[in-house]
Amino acid sequence: MSAHDKPPHDKPRDEGPDDATRRRWLLGAGAALTVGLAPRARADLLQGATMADLIIRNARITTLDPARPQAQALAVANGRVVAIGSDAEVMQLAPGAQVIDAQGRRLVPGLNDSHTHLIRGGLNYNLELRWDGVRSLADAMAMLKAQVDITPAPQWVRVVGGFTATQFAEKRLPTLQEINAIAPDTPVFLLHLYDRALLNRAALRACGYDRDTPDPPGGRIERDKAGNPTGLLLAKPNALILYASLAKGPRLPPEYQVNSTRHFMRELNRLGITSVIDAGGGFQNYPEDYQVVEQLHRDGELTVRIAYNLFTQHKGGELDDFATWTKMLQPRQGDDLLRHNGAGEMLVFSAADFELFSEPRPELPAELEPDLESVVRLLAQHRWPFRIHATYDESITRILDVYEKVDRDISLDGLHWFIDHAETVSERNIARIAAMGGGIAVQHRMAYQGEAFVERYGVQAARQTPPVRRMLDAGVPVGAGTDATRVASYNPWVALSWLVTGRTVGGLGLYGEEDLLEREAALRLWTHGSAWFSSDEDHKGRLAPGQLADFAVLSADYLRVPDAAIADITSVLTVVGGRIVHGDGDYAGLAPTLPPAMPDWSPVRRFGGYQVGGLVPGLVAQAHHAQGGACRLHAPHDHAAHHAAPSDDLRGFWGAVGCACFAF
Ligand SMILES: [Zn+2]
Ligand SMILES: [Zn+2]
Repeated sequence: MSAHDKPPHDKPRDEGPDDATRRRWLLGAGAALTVGLAPRARADLLQGATMADLIIRNARITTLDPARPQAQALAVANGRVVAIGSDAEVMQLAPGAQVIDAQGRRLVPGLNDSHTHLIRGGLNYNLELRWDGVRSLADAMAMLKAQVDITPAPQWVRVVGGFTATQFAEKRLPTLQEINAIAPDTPVFLLHLYDRALLNRAALRACGYDRDTPDPPGGRIERDKAGNPTGLLLAKPNALILYASLAKGPRLPPEYQVNSTRHFMRELNRLGITSVIDAGGGFQNYPEDYQVVEQLHRDGELTVRIAYNLFTQHKGGELDDFATWTKMLQPRQGDDLLRHNGAGEMLVFSAADFELFSEPRPELPAELEPDLESVVRLLAQHRWPFRIHATYDESITRILDVYEKVDRDISLDGLHWFIDHAETVSERNIARIAAMGGGIAVQHRMAYQGEAFVERYGVQAARQTPPVRRMLDAGVPVGAGTDATRVASYNPWVALSWLVTGRTVGGLGLYGEEDLLEREAALRLWTHGSAWFSSDEDHKGRLAPGQLADFAVLSADYLRVPDAAIADITSVLTVVGGRIVHGDGDYAGLAPTLPPAMPDWSPVRRFGGYQVGGLVPGLVAQAHHAQGGACRLHAPHDHAAHHAAPSDDLRGFWGAVGCACFAF
């Protein structure tokens, strides 16, 4: 039955059925019975079989199904939603089912990040100390110090993006001096967005960088007067130097990568994510680096659905890569948990424009057109969907010139091809994308780089970056995402907050009222909107009979909390395909427990991932100004937090602005 079938009586959704309705329901007669039931479930009901595996009742459900936008309860069987409606209606299916009382909480379709780097992020998650969500540099440095103290040689401590200096009360990064003081012997690698990396002296030694190391093309090694590297590496504008340096660090062995990926997926589940579309990534090779997710899939341990695109790693050899892969894989090969989703986000290196708003826009080379045409022609012939990274309108113009040329010979319509990022896309190019049946995947990179963009291009130019409303008005499919884990955090609520409020994580308002999205519209992009980008829009992203049973019960009511509280929302209960994959608070213990993060010194054990509310659990609430008023965060100090303290105490102790001695 279609999700659009109208119920015969439109009773208020939060009321139970009257007796007559109830009788019809029980007898299995009449159209009323079929409301909200999938065909198979209806057949089971008629046979008196047990209907549901899982029921959530007493919820405020936002279904995003136009036929029934609100509901109170839903039932799941065999991984799909089989009924949705009032408590009384759905509880008819209760015998034999696990019933969970949502206690009036908001329940939404599971979030779908249509542009993230989960596979790469998962391989490394357990190695990374994350500053995502930390609100003061003082806290961040206390975390760093605590981690340095327990990290054994020759391991590194790495903070690999997901934060920006503007999120800190101090509005700055640490200095190299401060990092060296905290970590005289342990290599520390700190990546800020796409623009710079800070390496302490131990990390420079581990990388083998000295006065004889030349600057790579597009990158710069800052040097002191004697020509020795200071530890600051800059993308000018190519971030290869940053990633190549990171790649010199120790890696996790494969069984640890499995554990690490599980922890990363659970972290995403904690934030209500149930699906992602993985955009590949530099240094992420197919098929080698996909073995971990394939193993997790075989073992039934994926807790996030993954559709993955393949990213070429060979400058000059892009066509060969795709020629090989189109022989190995069919479009959409896989299943609803792990599926191939075509090519990208790198199709050809000559089309890659780096999203570094603190630097001038890069001019792309003349090879772009011939390179891209050969690859897109091949993909279109094989009916492979494809995505392409494109930040600036100037790049998009040239990309669309190529696509139109190919489209005249082989139609691209129906392929679900799309442009990623598109911060400065023009109205004209949006129309060209619409005309060829393409989509646009947007992310909250501006929430992390908005200040840099405004500084270079001005307030006016920043007002529609990206112009999401215009895209929607033009009828272009729009999906939402994060582009995590480096240039932005993976937290979807930060991205929803940005869509709704137009503010950066540093608090700068970027957009006019007319360009902001209503909360439900933003949620739609994050669910049903993103589903189009893996061709899953028929069965994912809404809650209605027949849809995949992917949803999240929220810690606070997304539709009612103040704007400022949106970014602090988490999920208290996350369900993927009818399986509980995360539970918190009242629902803690409902999800299977994970083995502890490996290795035992993993920052994840102590600090977890995103610091929701800016509070850092596990940090010492030791008075760092206690001794003679000197700041013991500065060297030489041993401020490391050795006692866990309730996070509330921490905030009370350090206050909203953190350690003031870091302000200058
Ligand atoms: Zn990209
Ligand atoms: Zn990306």
